Amino acid sequence: ELRLNGFGSSPTLLIDPNLLEDTKRRLLVSLFFMNGAIFAISGIFGYFLAGITLNPIKEMVDEQNRFISDASHEINTPLTSLKLAMEVFLRKKNPKLGESKILIKESIGEVDKLQSLNQSLLRLAKFEVPNGHSDYELVDIKEIADNTISKVNPMARQKNIKINNFVESQKIMGNKYALGELFVVLLDNAIKYGNKNGSVWIVSTRKKDKVEISVKDNGIGISEKDMSHIFDRFYRADLARTKTEVNGYGLGLSIAKKIVEMHHGNISVESKVNEGSTFKVLLPI
Ligand code: ADP
Repeated sequence: ELRLNGFGSSPTLLIDPNLLEDTKRRLLVSLFFMNGAIFAISGIFGYFLAGITLNPIKEMVDEQNRFISDASHEINTPLTSLKLAMEVFLRKKNPKLGESKILIKESIGEVDKLQSLNQSLLRLAKFEVPNGHSDYELVDIKEIADNTISKVNPMARQKNIKINNFVESQKIMGNKYALGELFVVLLDNAIKYGNKNGSVWIVSTRKKDKVEISVKDNGIGISEKDMSHIFDRFYRADLARTKTEVNGYGLGLSIAKKIVEMHHGNISVESKVNEGSTFKVLLPI
């Protein structure tokens, strides 16, 4: 209700109190619903955003749990066989000195396996940490390749395998220690799964702003079914288990992959059963 109060004076609003009450009530109700809607919408958004943020953390925790259960499974196998052998020995009425020597020798073999598994696990854990190895410097891949070859040469000589080194001098930004580990894994595998009296080639090729290092052998090769799994932790191809007496835990290539990833590179493999395998590592310079 609008009324003019007196002549020449300013107009005054006289509002019906019922209308005011009604408007107030309606305003409160609509404010209540609007706030409720905003609360619900922000709740839903918050839920999805939290999901997006927490998902990688959840994946990491799941991955860690899988790693722990895989690792303890691998550790359990040699421990069980150690325990069993000792229990069998203890049950003997008159154990002979010769028998106890055999037992100790076999036990040392199992302990050696456990030790090497432990070292691989430690290495994998070290390279698992993002930017865990932060000391990057200009390193020469030829120097690293030469050093690695002198390390693995005794093993190659045992199988009469010749390592042909065609790595050329090329400086890249990298971690010397990690790249050394990477070359050891690839050359070690090429020798382990290579043929007796065979050959291994390590070659570097410049590709624009990258360098490719390939490690080739003419050994047992990898079947198509195994190809997509060999970089998984603890994976060993059937061929490796049945055709060679090589002991391994399937950790080498997962360590290699981590090292390549931390250098923002790429690792791939080409292989044919009974013909051989070529592992290619592409690293930015
Ligand atoms: P390990 O050698 O200890 O078993 P790796 O992670 O280094 O573990 O390799 C995983 C698997 O990939 C091996 O068990 C083997 O089956 C296969 N592999 C790797 N390198 C080669 C190779 N050069 N030739 C044939 N098979 C290979």
